[in-house]
Amino acid sequence: MSIAIYPGSFDPISNGHLDIIIRTSKIFEKVYVLVSVNPNKKSCFSTEEKVDMIKRVTMNMPNIIVESYNGLVLDYAKAKNANVIIRGLRNFIDYQDEITMFQFNRSIDNNIDTVVLFPSANNLFLSSTSIKQLVSLNADISNYVPKILVKEIEDKIKSTHKNFL
Ligand code: ADP
Repeated sequence: MSIAIYPGSFDPISNGHLDIIIRTSKIFEKVYVLVSVNPNKKSCFSTEEKVDMIKRVTMNMPNIIVESYNGLVLDYAKAKNANVIIRGLRNFIDYQDEITMFQFNRSIDNNIDTVVLFPSANNLFLSSTSIKQLVSLNADISNYVPKILVKEIEDKIKSTHKNFL
């Protein structure tokens, strides 16, 4: 079986991300969930907070490893002997971004492939951005993020939302 990398911003992790993690954990021998550090992208949550939250919601999944990285995902994959990158595909906007990224990655290293998973029906419309918007409008997010994280996600977004929205 293959080793996979699931990279993303996870700002914050949503039930959509978690669903992809659970499903890939059943397909691959080992999955590295990789919090990508992108200094050009404004984040609400720090890298440490993101890693810590994902670790807590995956603690009962022994083949999930959560780390962060500020380099090229392909370099990280090579270092971990991984040959698959996992991506979620919600809509045509994702499709355009993902196919571009896929072609780029293949042109750099064609030993590493991309596996795309469609979201489960109730996560199709979910994004980290929509979660931040909902909290800033005082809407309930309890159906959209892991239960144990609802309160801390709300508190953090409320305390910082002026800086990133
Ligand atoms: P975003 O900021 O768009 O929520 P991330 O960079 O955190 O996305 O996402 C990492 C990966 O997870 C991407 O491949 C993205 O398409 C996927 N993803 C994000 N939200 C969902 C969801 N609700 N269902 C399935 N996949 C998702």
